[in-house]
Amino acid sequence: MSDERSVRLVVGLEVHVHMKTRTKLFCSCATSFGDPPNTHCCPVCLGMPGVLPVMNREAYRLGVMTAMALGCTINERTKWDRKHYYYPDLPKNYQISQYDRPLGEHGLLEIETPAGRKAVRILRVHLEEDAGKLNHAPGGEECSEVDLNRAGTPLLEIVSEPDITSVEEARAYCTSLRQLVTYLGVSEANMQMGHMRFEPNINLHVAEHGETFATPIVELKNLNSFRAVERSIAFEARRQLAEWDETHRTLKAAGKTTRGYNDDTGETFVQREKEEAHDYRYFPEPDLVVVTPEASWLEELQQTLPELPLAKKDRFVREFGLGEYDAGVLTATIEMARYFEAVAAASGSPKAAANWVTQGLAREMNERGVTAESEADFPVTASHLAELVRAVESGTINKQAGDKVLRAMIDTGRTAGEIIEAEGLAQTSDAGDLDRWIEEALAANPGPAADYRAGKKQALGRIMGHIMKASKGKANPRLVTERLEKKLSE
Ligand SMILES: [Zn+2]
Repeated sequence: MSDERSVRLVVGLEVHVHMKTRTKLFCSCATSFGDPPNTHCCPVCLGMPGVLPVMNREAYRLGVMTAMALGCTINERTKWDRKHYYYPDLPKNYQISQYDRPLGEHGLLEIETPAGRKAVRILRVHLEEDAGKLNHAPGGEECSEVDLNRAGTPLLEIVSEPDITSVEEARAYCTSLRQLVTYLGVSEANMQMGHMRFEPNINLHVAEHGETFATPIVELKNLNSFRAVERSIAFEARRQLAEWDETHRTLKAAGKTTRGYNDDTGETFVQREKEEAHDYRYFPEPDLVVVTPEASWLEELQQTLPELPLAKKDRFVREFGLGEYDAGVLTATIEMARYFEAVAAASGSPKAAANWVTQGLAREMNERGVTAESEADFPVTASHLAELVRAVESGTINKQAGDKVLRAMIDTGRTAGEIIEAEGLAQTSDAGDLDRWIEEALAANPGPAADYRAGKKQALGRIMGHIMKASKGKANPRLVTERLEKKLSE
Protein backbone atom coordinates (compact mmCIF):
# COMPACT_ATOMS: atom_id res chain seq x y z
CA MET A 1 0.00 0.00 0.00
CA SER A 2 1.34 3.41 -0.93
CA ASP A 3 1.09 6.66 1.01
CA GLU A 4 1.34 8.57 -2.25
CA ARG A 5 -1.70 10.63 -2.93
CA SER A 6 -2.77 12.24 -6.16
CA VAL A 7 -5.35 14.97 -6.45
CA ARG A 8 -7.19 15.64 -9.67
CA LEU A 9 -9.22 18.80 -10.22
CA VAL A 10 -12.54 18.19 -11.99
CA VAL A 11 -14.45 21.14 -13.41
CA GLY A 12 -17.56 21.46 -15.52
CA LEU A 13 -18.64 24.89 -16.70
CA GLU A 14 -22.03 26.48 -17.18
CA VAL A 15 -21.69 29.61 -19.27
CA HIS A 16 -24.47 32.13 -19.84
CA VAL A 17 -24.18 34.23 -22.97
CA HIS A 18 -26.43 37.19 -23.86
CA MET A 19 -27.76 36.73 -27.36
CA LYS A 20 -27.49 39.76 -29.61
CA THR A 21 -31.15 40.47 -30.31
CA ARG A 22 -32.93 43.79 -30.60
CA THR A 23 -35.73 42.70 -28.29
CA LYS A 24 -36.23 40.47 -25.26
CA LEU A 25 -36.94 36.73 -25.41
CA PHE A 26 -40.71 36.82 -24.85
CA CYS A 27 -41.80 40.43 -25.40
CA SER A 28 -40.96 43.32 -27.71
CA CYS A 29 -39.11 45.44 -25.11
CA ALA A 30 -35.66 46.54 -26.31
CA THR A 31 -32.58 44.83 -24.89
CA SER A 32 -30.54 47.69 -23.48
CA PHE A 33 -27.60 48.48 -21.30
CA GLY A 34 -27.02 51.55 -19.19
CA ASP A 35 -30.44 53.16 -19.71
CA PRO A 36 -32.34 54.60 -16.72
CA PRO A 37 -33.83 51.80 -14.56
CA ASN A 38 -37.19 50.27 -15.54
CA THR A 39 -37.50 52.07 -18.86
CA HIS A 40 -37.61 48.90 -20.97
CA CYS A 41 -40.44 46.96 -19.34
CA CYS A 42 -43.95 45.86 -20.27
CA PRO A 43 -46.66 43.70 -18.65
CA VAL A 44 -44.95 40.52 -20.01
CA CYS A 45 -41.48 41.11 -18.56
CA LEU A 46 -43.00 42.64 -15.43
CA GLY A 47 -44.79 39.31 -14.87
CA MET A 48 -48.34 40.73 -14.81
CA PRO A 49 -51.11 38.14 -14.59
CA GLY A 50 -52.94 37.21 -17.78
CA VAL A 51 -50.21 38.21 -20.24
CA LEU A 52 -48.88 35.88 -22.93
CA PRO A 53 -45.22 35.45 -23.86
CA VAL A 54 -44.28 35.13 -27.55
CA MET A 55 -40.97 33.53 -28.50
CA ASN A 56 -38.35 35.72 -30.20
CA ARG A 57 -37.47 33.83 -33.39
CA GLU A 58 -34.13 35.60 -33.75
CA ALA A 59 -33.01 34.50 -30.27
CA TYR A 60 -33.99 30.96 -31.21
CA ARG A 61 -32.04 31.18 -34.48
CA LEU A 62 -28.89 32.51 -32.77
CA GLY A 63 -29.15 29.83 -30.08
CA VAL A 64 -29.50 26.99 -32.58
CA MET A 65 -26.61 28.41 -34.62
CA THR A 66 -24.37 28.30 -31.55
CA ALA A 67 -25.45 24.76 -30.70
CA MET A 68 -24.66 23.74 -34.30
CA ALA A 69 -21.22 25.36 -34.17
CA LEU A 70 -20.59 23.35 -30.99
CA GLY A 71 -21.42 20.20 -32.93
CA CYS A 72 -24.55 19.50 -30.90
CA THR A 73 -27.39 17.31 -32.04
CA ILE A 74 -30.27 19.74 -32.58
CA ASN A 75 -33.49 18.51 -31.03
CA GLU A 76 -36.31 18.15 -33.55
CA ARG A 77 -38.67 19.16 -30.81
CA THR A 78 -37.75 21.68 -28.17
CA LYS A 79 -39.94 23.11 -25.45
CA TRP A 80 -40.08 25.67 -22.66
CA ASP A 81 -40.35 25.04 -18.95
CA ARG A 82 -40.97 27.10 -15.86
CA LYS A 83 -38.17 26.99 -13.30
CA HIS A 84 -39.58 28.08 -9.96
CA TYR A 85 -37.62 30.04 -7.48
CA TYR A 86 -38.01 33.15 -5.39
CA TYR A 87 -36.40 35.70 -7.65
CA PRO A 88 -36.51 39.23 -6.22
CA ASP A 89 -35.39 40.44 -9.65
CA LEU A 90 -37.83 38.38 -11.75
CA PRO A 91 -41.34 39.34 -10.62
CA LYS A 92 -43.26 36.29 -11.83
CA ASN A 93 -41.12 34.11 -9.52
CA TYR A 94 -40.30 31.61 -12.20
CA GLN A 95 -37.90 31.75 -15.05
CA ILE A 96 -38.83 30.47 -18.48
CA SER A 97 -36.06 28.05 -19.36
CA GLN A 98 -35.68 24.67 -21.05
CA TYR A 99 -35.53 21.56 -18.91
CA ASP A 100 -35.69 18.20 -20.64
CA ARG A 101 -35.80 19.37 -24.27
CA PRO A 102 -32.94 21.84 -24.78
CA LEU A 103 -32.05 23.30 -28.21
CA GLY A 104 -29.06 21.02 -28.59
CA GLU A 105 -27.16 18.26 -26.82
CA HIS A 106 -23.91 16.29 -26.93
CA GLY A 107 -21.46 18.65 -28.65
CA LEU A 108 -17.76 19.45 -28.36
CA LEU A 109 -15.61 22.52 -27.96
CA GLU A 110 -11.99 22.10 -28.94
CA ILE A 111 -9.65 24.24 -26.85
CA GLU A 112 -5.92 24.94 -27.02
CA THR A 113 -3.92 24.22 -23.89
CA PRO A 114 -0.17 24.38 -23.24
CA ALA A 115 -0.20 20.59 -23.70
CA GLY A 116 -1.98 20.75 -27.05
CA ARG A 117 -5.58 20.65 -28.23
CA LYS A 118 -8.28 19.09 -26.14
CA ALA A 119 -11.95 18.45 -26.82
CA VAL A 120 -14.31 19.39 -23.99
CA ARG A 121 -17.68 17.68 -24.30
CA ILE A 122 -20.78 19.85 -24.27
CA LEU A 123 -23.70 18.33 -22.39
CA ARG A 124 -26.43 20.73 -23.51
CA VAL A 125 -27.25 24.16 -24.89
CA HIS A 126 -30.52 25.85 -24.01
CA LEU A 127 -32.19 29.25 -24.03
CA GLU A 128 -33.68 31.04 -21.05
CA GLU A 129 -34.60 34.52 -19.93
CA ASP A 130 -32.28 36.63 -17.80
CA ALA A 131 -33.40 38.18 -14.51
CA GLY A 132 -33.28 41.88 -13.69
CA LYS A 133 -30.67 43.53 -11.52
CA LEU A 134 -30.68 44.43 -7.85
CA ASN A 135 -28.97 47.63 -6.85
CA HIS A 136 -28.11 47.13 -3.19
CA ALA A 137 -28.05 50.04 -0.74
CA PRO A 138 -28.51 52.83 -3.28
CA GLY A 139 -27.20 56.11 -1.90
CA GLY A 140 -26.39 54.35 1.38
CA GLU A 141 -30.08 53.59 2.07
CA GLU A 142 -30.96 50.39 3.89
CA CYS A 143 -32.86 48.97 0.96
CA SER A 144 -32.33 47.57 -2.52
CA GLU A 145 -33.69 48.84 -5.80
CA VAL A 146 -34.71 46.56 -8.62
CA ASP A 147 -34.08 47.40 -12.26
CA LEU A 148 -36.03 45.19 -14.65
CA ASN A 149 -34.51 46.42 -17.91
CA ARG A 150 -32.51 43.22 -18.17
CA ALA A 151 -35.38 40.91 -17.11
CA GLY A 152 -36.33 38.76 -20.11
CA THR A 153 -33.10 39.27 -22.08
CA PRO A 154 -32.28 36.08 -24.03
CA LEU A 155 -29.52 34.05 -22.43
CA LEU A 156 -27.96 30.98 -23.95
CA GLU A 157 -26.74 28.52 -21.35
CA ILE A 158 -23.94 26.23 -22.49
CA VAL A 159 -23.18 23.37 -20.11
CA SER A 160 -19.99 21.35 -20.42
CA GLU A 161 -19.25 17.89 -19.11
CA PRO A 162 -16.72 17.82 -16.23
CA ASP A 163 -13.79 17.43 -18.64
CA ILE A 164 -11.75 20.41 -17.47
CA THR A 165 -8.84 19.45 -15.22
CA SER A 166 -6.85 22.65 -14.63
CA VAL A 167 -7.24 26.37 -14.11
CA GLU A 168 -5.53 26.97 -17.47
CA GLU A 169 -8.00 24.69 -19.25
CA ALA A 170 -10.91 26.50 -17.59
CA ARG A 171 -9.62 29.81 -18.87
CA ALA A 172 -8.97 28.38 -22.34
CA TYR A 173 -12.51 27.00 -22.43
CA CYS A 174 -14.05 30.37 -21.48
CA THR A 175 -11.95 32.38 -23.93
CA SER A 176 -12.58 29.86 -26.73
CA LEU A 177 -16.30 30.11 -26.13
CA ARG A 178 -16.13 33.89 -26.25
CA GLN A 179 -14.13 33.67 -29.49
CA LEU A 180 -16.71 31.26 -30.94
CA VAL A 181 -19.79 33.38 -30.18
CA THR A 182 -18.14 36.51 -31.56
CA TYR A 183 -17.10 34.62 -34.73
CA LEU A 184 -20.72 33.53 -35.09
CA GLY A 185 -21.95 37.06 -34.40
CA VAL A 186 -24.57 35.71 -31.97
CA SER A 187 -23.37 37.83 -29.05
CA GLU A 188 -21.35 40.97 -28.50
CA ALA A 189 -19.80 39.04 -25.59
CA ASN A 190 -18.82 42.29 -23.94
CA MET A 191 -17.43 41.26 -20.55
CA GLN A 192 -17.82 44.73 -19.02
CA MET A 193 -21.51 44.71 -19.90
CA GLY A 194 -21.97 41.29 -18.30
CA HIS A 195 -22.74 39.56 -21.62
CA MET A 196 -20.97 36.43 -20.38
CA ARG A 197 -21.29 34.88 -16.93
CA PHE A 198 -19.55 31.74 -15.77
CA GLU A 199 -20.58 29.12 -13.22
CA PRO A 200 -17.98 26.42 -12.62
CA ASN A 201 -18.86 23.15 -10.87
CA ILE A 202 -15.77 22.06 -9.01
CA ASN A 203 -14.62 19.06 -7.05
CA LEU A 204 -11.52 16.98 -6.45
CA HIS A 205 -10.82 13.33 -7.08
CA VAL A 206 -8.40 12.28 -4.38
CA ALA A 207 -6.64 8.97 -4.92
CA GLU A 208 -4.89 7.48 -1.90
CA HIS A 209 -4.26 4.01 -0.50
CA GLY A 210 -5.46 2.55 -3.79
CA GLU A 211 -8.90 4.16 -3.55
CA THR A 212 -10.36 7.27 -5.19
CA PHE A 213 -12.66 9.64 -3.31
CA ALA A 214 -14.62 12.57 -4.69
CA THR A 215 -15.11 15.74 -2.65
CA PRO A 216 -18.62 17.28 -2.70
CA ILE A 217 -19.32 19.37 -5.78
CA VAL A 218 -19.39 23.12 -5.33
CA GLU A 219 -21.05 25.39 -7.86
CA LEU A 220 -19.71 28.95 -8.01
CA LYS A 221 -22.28 31.51 -9.07
CA ASN A 222 -22.10 34.48 -11.41
CA LEU A 223 -18.44 35.00 -12.24
CA ASN A 224 -18.04 37.70 -14.83
CA SER A 225 -14.39 37.71 -15.85
CA PHE A 226 -11.79 35.17 -16.99
CA ARG A 227 -9.62 36.22 -14.07
CA ALA A 228 -12.42 35.50 -11.60
CA VAL A 229 -12.85 32.04 -13.18
CA GLU A 230 -9.16 31.26 -12.71
CA ARG A 231 -8.78 32.66 -9.21
CA SER A 232 -12.00 31.21 -7.82
CA ILE A 233 -11.27 27.71 -9.13
CA ALA A 234 -7.74 27.82 -7.75
CA PHE A 235 -9.08 28.96 -4.37
CA GLU A 236 -11.80 26.33 -4.31
CA ALA A 237 -9.31 23.54 -5.15
CA ARG A 238 -7.15 24.57 -2.17
CA ARG A 239 -10.16 24.97 0.12
CA GLN A 240 -11.64 21.58 -0.77
CA LEU A 241 -8.35 19.80 -0.19
CA ALA A 242 -7.92 21.52 3.18
CA GLU A 243 -11.50 20.61 4.13
CA TRP A 244 -10.90 17.04 3.03
CA ASP A 245 -7.87 16.83 5.32
CA GLU A 246 -9.58 18.59 8.24
CA THR A 247 -12.61 16.31 8.18
CA HIS A 248 -10.26 13.32 8.21
CA ARG A 249 -11.54 12.15 4.86
CA THR A 250 -15.07 11.52 6.05
CA LEU A 251 -16.70 14.19 3.91
CA LYS A 252 -19.43 12.58 1.81
CA ALA A 253 -20.38 13.78 -1.62
CA ALA A 254 -24.01 14.59 -0.84
CA GLY A 255 -25.66 17.05 -3.19
CA LYS A 256 -24.21 20.24 -4.49
CA THR A 257 -23.35 23.39 -2.52
CA THR A 258 -23.61 26.79 -4.07
CA ARG A 259 -20.92 29.31 -3.24
CA GLY A 260 -20.32 32.91 -4.20
CA TYR A 261 -16.99 34.52 -4.98
CA ASN A 262 -15.56 37.74 -3.62
CA ASP A 263 -13.19 39.24 -6.18
CA ASP A 264 -11.60 41.55 -3.59
CA THR A 265 -10.42 38.73 -1.34
CA GLY A 266 -10.18 36.03 -4.03
CA GLU A 267 -12.21 33.75 -1.72
CA THR A 268 -15.46 31.81 -2.06
CA PHE A 269 -18.26 31.69 0.54
CA VAL A 270 -21.32 29.50 1.17
CA GLN A 271 -24.61 30.64 -0.38
CA ARG A 272 -26.94 27.63 -0.46
CA GLU A 273 -26.63 24.02 0.60
CA LYS A 274 -27.86 21.07 -1.40
CA GLU A 275 -29.77 22.38 -4.33
CA GLU A 276 -31.51 19.79 -6.48
CA ALA A 277 -33.45 20.02 -9.70
CA HIS A 278 -36.69 19.00 -7.97
CA ASP A 279 -36.42 22.08 -5.73
CA TYR A 280 -37.24 24.13 -8.81
CA ARG A 281 -40.40 22.17 -9.61
CA TYR A 282 -39.90 22.44 -13.33
CA PHE A 283 -43.02 22.03 -15.41
CA PRO A 284 -43.85 22.73 -19.05
CA GLU A 285 -44.69 26.37 -19.79
CA PRO A 286 -48.38 26.24 -20.74
CA ASP A 287 -48.32 29.60 -22.58
CA LEU A 288 -45.68 28.67 -25.16
CA VAL A 289 -45.91 26.09 -27.91
CA VAL A 290 -43.40 23.31 -28.57
CA VAL A 291 -40.89 24.37 -31.24
CA THR A 292 -40.32 21.97 -34.13
CA PRO A 293 -37.82 23.49 -36.59
CA GLU A 294 -38.13 22.33 -40.20
CA ALA A 295 -35.29 20.21 -41.52
CA SER A 296 -34.80 22.57 -44.49
CA TRP A 297 -34.52 25.58 -42.15
CA LEU A 298 -31.92 23.78 -40.07
CA GLU A 299 -29.98 22.82 -43.19
CA GLU A 300 -29.94 26.41 -44.40
CA LEU A 301 -28.75 27.60 -41.01
CA GLN A 302 -25.97 25.01 -41.03
CA GLN A 303 -24.85 26.44 -44.40
CA THR A 304 -24.53 29.94 -42.95
CA LEU A 305 -22.05 28.90 -40.25
CA PRO A 306 -18.74 30.69 -40.79
CA GLU A 307 -15.35 29.01 -40.72
CA LEU A 308 -14.66 28.47 -37.02
CA PRO A 309 -11.57 29.81 -35.21
CA LEU A 310 -9.37 26.69 -35.06
CA ALA A 311 -10.27 25.62 -38.60
CA LYS A 312 -9.29 29.09 -39.79
CA LYS A 313 -6.05 28.96 -37.84
CA ASP A 314 -5.17 25.58 -39.37
CA ARG A 315 -5.96 26.91 -42.83
CA PHE A 316 -3.71 29.95 -42.32
CA VAL A 317 -0.84 27.62 -41.36
CA ARG A 318 -1.51 25.35 -44.34
CA GLU A 319 -2.37 27.88 -47.02
CA PHE A 320 -0.02 30.74 -46.16
CA GLY A 321 2.82 28.82 -44.49
CA LEU A 322 2.44 30.82 -41.27
CA GLY A 323 3.74 29.68 -37.89
CA GLU A 324 1.28 28.49 -35.21
CA TYR A 325 1.81 31.61 -33.12
CA ASP A 326 1.22 34.10 -35.94
CA ALA A 327 -1.80 32.13 -37.16
CA GLY A 328 -3.18 32.33 -33.60
CA VAL A 329 -2.70 36.11 -33.45
CA LEU A 330 -4.31 36.54 -36.87
CA THR A 331 -7.38 34.48 -35.95
CA ALA A 332 -7.84 35.82 -32.41
CA THR A 333 -10.87 37.77 -33.60
CA ILE A 334 -12.84 37.36 -36.81
CA GLU A 335 -12.18 41.03 -37.62
CA MET A 336 -8.43 40.44 -37.37
CA ALA A 337 -8.70 37.38 -39.62
CA ARG A 338 -10.76 39.27 -42.21
CA TYR A 339 -8.34 42.18 -42.15
CA PHE A 340 -5.30 39.96 -42.60
CA GLU A 341 -6.88 38.06 -45.49
CA ALA A 342 -7.71 41.33 -47.22
CA VAL A 343 -4.11 42.58 -46.86
CA ALA A 344 -2.76 39.19 -47.99
CA ALA A 345 -4.95 39.17 -51.10
CA ALA A 346 -4.35 42.81 -52.06
CA SER A 347 -0.59 42.66 -51.53
CA GLY A 348 -0.12 39.27 -53.17
CA SER A 349 2.38 38.40 -50.38
CA PRO A 350 0.53 36.57 -47.57
CA LYS A 351 3.66 35.92 -45.53
CA ALA A 352 4.87 39.51 -45.70
CA ALA A 353 1.31 40.66 -44.98
CA ALA A 354 1.26 38.43 -41.88
CA ASN A 355 4.53 39.97 -40.66
CA TRP A 356 3.27 43.51 -41.15
CA VAL A 357 -0.03 42.81 -39.37
CA THR A 358 1.42 40.81 -36.43
CA GLN A 359 4.46 43.04 -35.94
CA GLY A 360 4.33 46.61 -37.26
CA LEU A 361 0.58 47.09 -37.07
CA ALA A 362 0.03 45.05 -33.87
CA ARG A 363 2.81 47.05 -32.17
CA GLU A 364 1.20 50.35 -33.13
CA MET A 365 -2.22 49.08 -31.97
CA ASN A 366 -0.77 47.81 -28.67
CA GLU A 367 0.81 51.18 -28.01
CA ARG A 368 -2.60 52.73 -28.51
CA GLY A 369 -4.30 50.08 -26.33
CA VAL A 370 -6.57 48.91 -29.16
CA THR A 371 -7.75 45.32 -29.73
CA ALA A 372 -9.15 44.31 -33.10
CA GLU A 373 -12.84 43.85 -32.43
CA SER A 374 -14.30 45.95 -35.20
CA GLU A 375 -13.18 47.33 -38.54
CA ALA A 376 -12.84 50.79 -36.99
CA ASP A 377 -10.15 49.49 -34.60
CA PHE A 378 -7.59 49.22 -37.39
CA PRO A 379 -5.64 52.45 -37.75
CA VAL A 380 -5.12 51.95 -41.49
CA THR A 381 -7.34 50.20 -44.01
CA ALA A 382 -6.38 46.80 -45.40
CA SER A 383 -5.87 48.21 -48.90
CA HIS A 384 -3.58 50.96 -47.58
CA LEU A 385 -1.49 48.46 -45.62
CA ALA A 386 -1.33 46.25 -48.71
CA GLU A 387 0.12 49.18 -50.67
CA LEU A 388 2.87 49.50 -48.06
CA VAL A 389 3.56 45.74 -48.14
CA ARG A 390 3.92 45.93 -51.93
CA ALA A 391 6.28 48.92 -51.69
CA VAL A 392 8.60 47.00 -49.35
CA GLU A 393 8.33 43.68 -51.19
CA SER A 394 9.13 45.27 -54.55
CA GLY A 395 12.17 47.04 -53.12
CA THR A 396 10.75 50.56 -53.57
CA ILE A 397 11.57 51.20 -49.91
CA ASN A 398 13.44 49.16 -47.35
CA LYS A 399 12.01 47.67 -44.17
CA GLN A 400 13.17 50.48 -41.86
CA ALA A 401 11.65 53.08 -44.14
CA GLY A 402 8.51 50.92 -44.17
CA ASP A 403 8.17 51.17 -40.38
CA LYS A 404 8.53 54.92 -40.63
CA VAL A 405 5.93 55.09 -43.40
CA LEU A 406 3.47 53.00 -41.36
CA ARG A 407 3.68 55.38 -38.40
CA ALA A 408 3.23 58.35 -40.73
CA MET A 409 0.22 56.62 -42.35
CA ILE A 410 -1.40 56.19 -38.94
CA ASP A 411 -0.59 59.73 -37.80
CA THR A 412 -1.59 61.54 -40.97
CA GLY A 413 -4.07 59.23 -42.73
CA ARG A 414 -2.06 59.55 -45.95
CA THR A 415 -1.26 56.56 -48.17
CA ALA A 416 2.12 54.84 -48.34
CA GLY A 417 2.64 56.14 -51.88
CA GLU A 418 1.98 59.75 -50.85
CA ILE A 419 4.38 59.55 -47.92
CA ILE A 420 7.14 57.81 -49.89
CA GLU A 421 6.84 60.50 -52.55
CA ALA A 422 6.65 63.46 -50.14
CA GLU A 423 9.54 62.26 -47.97
CA GLY A 424 11.66 61.12 -50.91
CA LEU A 425 12.01 57.67 -49.38
CA ALA A 426 11.97 55.61 -52.55
CA GLN A 427 15.10 53.59 -53.11
CA THR A 428 17.09 54.24 -56.24
CA SER A 429 17.33 51.42 -58.73
CA ASP A 430 18.72 53.68 -61.45
CA ALA A 431 21.79 51.89 -62.87
CA GLY A 432 23.68 55.15 -63.53
CA ASP A 433 23.29 56.36 -59.93
CA LEU A 434 24.16 52.96 -58.49
CA ASP A 435 27.31 52.66 -60.60
CA ARG A 436 28.41 56.16 -59.66
CA TRP A 437 28.09 55.31 -55.92
CA ILE A 438 29.91 52.01 -56.49
CA GLU A 439 32.84 53.69 -58.29
CA GLU A 440 33.17 56.27 -55.50
CA ALA A 441 33.09 53.60 -52.81
CA LEU A 442 35.71 51.45 -54.54
CA ALA A 443 37.99 54.45 -55.02
CA ALA A 444 37.64 55.36 -51.33
CA ASN A 445 38.16 51.78 -50.11
CA PRO A 446 41.01 50.21 -52.07
CA GLY A 447 41.98 47.98 -49.12
CA PRO A 448 38.61 46.21 -48.69
CA ALA A 449 38.27 45.91 -52.47
CA ALA A 450 41.62 44.11 -52.66
CA ASP A 451 40.70 41.94 -49.68
CA TYR A 452 37.44 40.92 -51.37
CA ARG A 453 39.22 40.02 -54.57
CA ALA A 454 41.68 37.97 -52.49
CA GLY A 455 38.74 35.92 -51.20
CA LYS A 456 37.70 37.74 -48.00
CA LYS A 457 34.03 37.98 -48.80
CA GLN A 458 33.13 39.86 -45.61
CA ALA A 459 35.10 42.86 -46.88
CA LEU A 460 32.04 43.64 -49.00
CA GLY A 461 30.30 45.02 -45.91
CA ARG A 462 32.68 48.00 -45.66
CA ILE A 463 32.09 48.96 -49.27
CA MET A 464 28.32 48.50 -48.97
CA GLY A 465 28.33 50.71 -45.87
CA HIS A 466 30.05 53.46 -47.82
CA ILE A 467 27.48 53.22 -50.61
CA MET A 468 24.46 53.28 -48.28
CA LYS A 469 25.89 56.30 -46.50
CA ALA A 470 26.67 58.15 -49.72
CA SER A 471 23.18 57.40 -51.07
CA LYS A 472 21.51 58.31 -47.76
CA GLY A 473 20.07 54.80 -47.58
CA LYS A 474 18.30 55.10 -50.91
CA ALA A 475 20.44 52.71 -52.95
CA ASN A 476 18.46 49.52 -53.52
CA PRO A 477 20.64 47.07 -51.53
CA ARG A 478 19.79 44.03 -53.62
CA LEU A 479 20.75 45.73 -56.88
CA VAL A 480 23.87 47.30 -55.36
CA THR A 481 25.09 43.94 -54.08
CA GLU A 482 24.53 42.35 -57.48
CA ARG A 483 26.37 45.07 -59.39
CA LEU A 484 29.16 45.40 -56.82
CA GLU A 485 29.89 41.69 -56.81
CA LYS A 486 29.95 41.65 -60.60
CA LYS A 487 32.27 44.64 -60.70
CA LEU A 488 34.71 43.13 -58.18
CA SER A 489 34.92 39.85 -60.07
CA GLU A 490 35.75 41.53 -63.38
ZN1 LIG B 1 -41.26 43.53 -21.89
